[in-house]
Amino acid sequence: MAGELKVDLTDEQIKEIVEDVYGETKPKFCPKCGVKNPAGAKHCKKCGENLLK
Ligand SMILES: [Zn+2]
Repeated sequence: MAGELKVDLTDEQIKEIVEDVYGETKPKFCPKCGVKNPAGAKHCKKCGENLLK
């Protein structure tokens, strides 16, 4: 099986890696109301939803 690389990550693990890489550089969209919040925002500017969950 030379050359075969099996990557078996859950969606949650992939999300964590993406967040590690892109971290605070991408805007955050509120999961509740969909408003775009600035990178690094901890709470939604519109509804106050916790964006760190
Ligand atoms: Zn919101």
